[in-house]
Amino acid sequence: MRTLASIQKIKALEPIEGADAIEKATVLGWQLVVKKNEFKAGDLAVYCEIDSLMPDKPEFEFLKPRKMRIRTVRLRGQISQGICFPLSILPVDFQIEEDADCTEALEIVKYDPPMPACLGGIAKGKFPSFIPKTDETRVQVLQEVLDKYKGVKCYVTEKVDGSSVTYYINNGEFGVCSRNLELLENEENSLWKFARQNDIENKLLSLNKNFALQGEIVGEGIQSNKLKLKGQTVMFFNAFDIDKFEYLQFDQFNELIEKLQLPMVPIITTDYELVNDIDTIIKTATIKSIVCPDVWAEGIVIRPLNEKIDALLSNENFNNGRVSFKAVNPEFLLKYGE
Ligand code: ATP
Ligand code: MN
Repeated sequence: MRTLASIQKIKALEPIEGADAIEKATVLGWQLVVKKNEFKAGDLAVYCEIDSLMPDKPEFEFLKPRKMRIRTVRLRGQISQGICFPLSILPVDFQIEEDADCTEALEIVKYDPPMPACLGGIAKGKFPSFIPKTDETRVQVLQEVLDKYKGVKCYVTEKVDGSSVTYYINNGEFGVCSRNLELLENEENSLWKFARQNDIENKLLSLNKNFALQGEIVGEGIQSNKLKLKGQTVMFFNAFDIDKFEYLQFDQFNELIEKLQLPMVPIITTDYELVNDIDTIIKTATIKSIVCPDVWAEGIVIRPLNEKIDALLSNENFNNGRVSFKAVNPEFLLKYGE
């Protein structure tokens, strides 16, 4: 589970122009607004990330109008993501240590958007263990990774806001999975419809190996169809060789998707040199969509052109060690109340 609350150092405090009661704090790679004089630079605090659903307790009462959810806000022109609380909100027996995860101790759970009806169905079983689930870690917690891979050649794709799908062929068996489950065939379900309309089973069979394709289903009826698409489609972002248990390199992925005549997530650039400044990456993510240029893109996903696996990204919070991460566009989050 993602760490939503942890003990973190307030790295810096800076004034906000035209505001005297609040100031800007930096925690991890996040920027947020705090009350002036509540903290000093270097103090430890309990930092709760956006998407935290706080329990119904007196100390979180002020979040009631926001349905207890910590969201991106803008105060006096300053974007603020997350909330810092004093250490005193922790249970008395909690061991105070920088980086300690206090999500459970504070009974915080993650907000997840409701599943649209067209993606529902009857589960065939759990998500198969021979394929990694789709996931992308937020760049704000990856300073160490950025420092290590600074300068590496990457490709950048647009993050599209829909719902994850995995199609696979394994020992002749075709499977369709949502983010966390494998689904029984069902004519009403959009993931299965796309598969049948686009001949995904035969396309995968034509590869003559055990293989998975992963993408995002987007369009009408899904997450308010922010990209104003007609109908629905799946934009693919991963090709996974099940027998080798590895992702295809970008070039091969690109070639394969072209050969199979399937849509890919929009490519922003294949010539990006990774930088290690989180604010700069967030700026790069603050762009309009390639698919629908009059709306904000949800953000970007950055990956090395040559796939890399690193232990820095393989604890229970992160992916499976794959060097790949997202930078979500704060303007998108503000606009949609997230
Ligand atoms: P969090 O990890 O921040 O708590 P989450 O796990 O719900 O939230 P998402 O915001 O859905 O994560 O981001 C990861 C998902 O983004 C992936 O699982 C994938 O389905 C989807 N996605 C959309 N566009 C892309 C893309 N271009 N590249 C990779 N994944 C993408
Ligand atoms: Mn995640």
